[in-house]
Amino acid sequence: MKALVLFSGGLDSILAAKLIQRQGIEVEGVHYVTPFTSKQRGHPEEVGRIAERNGIPCHIQQIGEEYFSIITHPAYGVGKHANPCIDCRIFMLRKAQERMRAQGAGFLVTGEVVGQRPMTQQKHCLNRIDKHSGLKGLVLRPLSAELLKETLPEIRGWVRREELCAVSGRGRKRQFALAEEFGVTEYFPPAGGCLLTSAGFCSRLKDLLAHGNLNLRNVEVLKTGRHFRLTPQYKLVVARDERENRYLAGYARYGDTVVTAREAGPYALGIGEANRDAVRLSRRIVARYVSRQRTVPVAAGIYPQKDLQVCRVSALEEDRLKKYLI
Ligand code: SF4
Repeated sequence: MKALVLFSGGLDSILAAKLIQRQGIEVEGVHYVTPFTSKQRGHPEEVGRIAERNGIPCHIQQIGEEYFSIITHPAYGVGKHANPCIDCRIFMLRKAQERMRAQGAGFLVTGEVVGQRPMTQQKHCLNRIDKHSGLKGLVLRPLSAELLKETLPEIRGWVRREELCAVSGRGRKRQFALAEEFGVTEYFPPAGGCLLTSAGFCSRLKDLLAHGNLNLRNVEVLKTGRHFRLTPQYKLVVARDERENRYLAGYARYGDTVVTAREAGPYALGIGEANRDAVRLSRRIVARYVSRQRTVPVAAGIYPQKDLQVCRVSALEEDRLKKYLI
C-alpha cells in the first residue's frame, strides 16, 4: 500500500505523513506551487530540503495559468482577502488524484485539522471538498481522523484508526508533542505561504483583475516593488532595493516602458500602453525615490530599446504619489 501526502512543508503535513509511515505504509509527498505561493514556500530547494530532512520523498509540481479560473470565478467565494480556499482545496485534491493514479497510491493524506481554519477545515467543508474533488472516502486526515467519519483506508484495514489522532482547533500543543515524538525539528511556519491571504498583495491583485491583465508575468511582478496605477491602461512598478531592481528587470517584456534614474536610484517598469503624460508621471515618481529636493535626470524608453531618453524632472508631490499608489 502506498499513500500520497499533500505536503506543504508545514508541521501538520509532516506529522500526518509520519503517522502513516509509522504504520508501515509507503508515503510520497506532493507539493503544489501555485502562481500565488510565496517565494520561500515555492522555492523547490527549500521544500526539497525540508522533505528530505523529514524522510519524506516529495515531488514538487508547478501550477500555472490553469489556477486562474478559481481566482476569476471562485464557485465557493473568497475569504477575508482574495483567497478562494474551498475552490483551491478542490483544485489541489483533483490534481492529487491524477498523481495518485500515476503513482499507484491507494489514498490521499492531508495535514488538515478539524476546526483549525474557519473556511476549509470545518467538518461540513471537508466533506464538501472531498465530494467535489471526486475523492470521497479516500482522503485521510490522520491528525483529526478519530473525530471524522471512517474513510475507506480505515474501513478496509489498510490503516489502523486507533493509532491516529483526535486533534481539533487552533491550539498546537498536541502537534508539538508529536513533533518531539517523531524528532521533527524542521518545517515551515504555519502562516505566510499563500499570498492570497496578504492584504497588500490582494489589493494589487484586485487592481490587476479590474484592468483585465491577469497573466503569469504580471502576477510575478505583483510580488515586488511599489505599484502605481497611472491610467486604466498603464501601471508603474518601482523597485525598492538592488535585489528588486534585478528581479523587476528580469520580468521586462517587449513593449514595456523602462524608467531608470541616471544617479543611484530605482529601476521601474511601466506595464501597458503609456501616453506622454503617463511617461512624464513615471519619471517624476522615480525621481521621488532619488531626491525630493532637486531635479534629477531620469531615463525612459520602450523595452528592449537601448537608447533611453533622459530628462531632468522633479519629484512628484506626496499627495499625488499617494493617490496613484495601489
Ligand atoms: S490559503 Fe491559499 S493555498 Fe491555502 S487553501 Fe486558501 S487559497 Fe489555497
